[in-house]
Amino acid sequence: MSILYPNNHYNSVHEIDYKQLQVLGVKAIIFDIDNTLVPYDILEPTPQVIGLIEKLQKDGFKLCLISNNNKNRVDLFNKELKLPAIAKAYKPLSKNIKKGLALLGSQADQTALIGDQMFTDVWGGNRVGLFTILVRPIQDKEEWITKIKRGIEKKVFKKYISKKEKTND
Ligand SMILES: [Mg+2]
Repeated sequence: MSILYPNNHYNSVHEIDYKQLQVLGVKAIIFDIDNTLVPYDILEPTPQVIGLIEKLQKDGFKLCLISNNNKNRVDLFNKELKLPAIAKAYKPLSKNIKKGLALLGSQADQTALIGDQMFTDVWGGNRVGLFTILVRPIQDKEEWITKIKRGIEKKVFKKYISKKEKTND
């Protein structure tokens, strides 16, 4: 079960303590797009997201996008950002997450993966040995398969939280 547990969790990408990530030795970040950076139906990055990306780049982070969504979605979202990006990533499979590392020129233990789903982002990132961060999904208007997964995910998340609280005692 712990393969589904993130190293850390936050309400949103804008609340993450990126300074702390740097202290931990993280030099590169792989972002999920849908419901992590923007809702599914927002095709382009918001000014807030653009601001975040620019700030992280200025702080020295190397950035990459990895989405299970199709190439059109990823290309349109990435049009102005021009980040290394992988569409149809089939997370939690490790192949394309490793490809992301190669695009970034980064090692697994110096890379964080930030996403909103335990069963794709966290599981995939953990498999490859990345520092995984779970964020609360921006919006709940989702495809039915994701909805089904969410039900199970809630249970796993509760277990993760109770385990985390125990270790913090
Ligand atoms: Mg997502």
